[in-house]
Amino acid sequence: MALRLIVPIFGPPAAGKTTLTLHLGSEPGRRIFRLREHVPTEALAATAISPERLGWIDEFTVGRAVRSYVTATQGDSMVHTILMDNFPGSRGQVDQLLAIMLAAAPGCRIEPIEAITDAKTLKQRARTRKVCHRCERDPIHDPRLPALAQEDDPWACVRCGGLLHPRRGDSPRLFKARLQRYHETAAGIRDGFTSAGVPVTQLDTTNTIEGAANLLAPLLISRSSTL
Ligand SMILES: [Zn+2]
Repeated sequence: MALRLIVPIFGPPAAGKTTLTLHLGSEPGRRIFRLREHVPTEALAATAISPERLGWIDEFTVGRAVRSYVTATQGDSMVHTILMDNFPGSRGQVDQLLAIMLAAAPGCRIEPIEAITDAKTLKQRARTRKVCHRCERDPIHDPRLPALAQEDDPWACVRCGGLLHPRRGDSPRLFKARLQRYHETAAGIRDGFTSAGVPVTQLDTTNTIEGAANLLAPLLISRSSTL
């Protein structure tokens, strides 16, 4: 079995990208790629300094991380699908990804998904979601994965009992900057794919993210089949 499908998932902050990948990525044969897990801590630390640079990682570091991940996964006989959580983040990263696939995983399909919902839902989700510093040991103490709370205590982690926190990037000031950057880059990301002949599927996550994941599931199965 070789790599058959790459599913880049992009969209505004709090649209449900991480939850989507967690739901879909638990199936056998699938892996989740998160850029920040594959770049040196120094590169991550540099992105945390100002909202303008929030999450910004230079092109060389991005290219190296994606290339080595795709190459390693292509050589892993247990994996046929990569879900990319919040990647690509720019038109340049679309071009990089397509070039890397052509060289390192020829014949692999690509199925980009843009998670979308309305501004009210985004704000509400950003206000209510929480992370756990104890369950997710982030190298720069900026955990991202959604953490569930205990039923009787909205601030207690269901897994470790520790205190949950809001996500750093969800503070109103940073959230606004992240949302604005998404609006500035989204058209370029779509255009990067469509001008290469790759259609982008928009997935509405407004009702529930789980429901949206269920809508997407059959598409991933059919696209990753060898038939
Ligand atoms: Zn925890």
